[in-house]
Amino acid sequence: MKINSDLCTGCRKCNIFCPVEAIFEDRENKISIIDLNECVECGNCLRQAGCQVGAIYQQELTWPRSVRSIMSDPLTITKESGIAGRGTEEMKTNDVTGRFRRGYVGVGIEMGRPILGAYFSDVEKVAMAVALFGVEFETCNPLTSLMSDQATGKFMDELLGEKVLSTIIEFTIPIERITGLLKVLKDVSEKIDTVFSLCFASRLDVDEVIPINHILDDAGIWYAPNGKTNVGLGRPLFTEKGEIV
Ligand code: SF4
Ligand code: SF4
Repeated sequence: MKINSDLCTGCRKCNIFCPVEAIFEDRENKISIIDLNECVECGNCLRQAGCQVGAIYQQELTWPRSVRSIMSDPLTITKESGIAGRGTEEMKTNDVTGRFRRGYVGVGIEMGRPILGAYFSDVEKVAMAVALFGVEFETCNPLTSLMSDQATGKFMDELLGEKVLSTIIEFTIPIERITGLLKVLKDVSEKIDTVFSLCFASRLDVDEVIPINHILDDAGIWYAPNGKTNVGLGRPLFTEKGEIV
């Protein structure tokens, strides 16, 4: 995103709409400027600030910068999946899609948050750490298609300097591997300059217990259980035996 310096009056009404504080004040020229290194192309300032002089405009986004918009602008639809908002339905639609079965857990590592965002160089560090642990990345998540090597979690080199508001590394693992995964994530969390939150999606056991709760309790990890009922998505597209229907 850019600001036309010939039009901007320096009113500063747009800066509060930026989730990564990329809009700064040029006091000498009494205008606002967008730091393109920090801007994640979320589109918020353009849509929400209501600039009275129309100074904010979207410049043409070419690859690899366009990935910022794909991951950060909730209105940008990802070509690979046809889905807006980081391009993945996530494992929350599991009741229909069957991404994981009983005995497995859907894992989402949500990299970045407002203010901080996340550079792909850090996303790669986490992806490579979990790949080394032996996970297979979710192919329906467009982030996976941005890897140059899905076996190692390596991303395309041209992406490493790109920054996004957030993005989700997604995979499934057997429940018994959660403890090992937590250790891997704790280790790699000390090597990155951003934050991530963890989302575990699992089906209720037959006795209606969430199967991974005791693992998180034992690990001393705080969590907020959420139930999710997907209404209107249709019938399951799979059987318990793994057949697609
Ligand atoms: S709202 Fe418009 S005029 Fe005011 S600082 Fe932002 S870009 Fe400039
Ligand atoms: S597009 Fe988003 S990140 Fe970029 S300056 Fe505007 S609000 Fe900030």
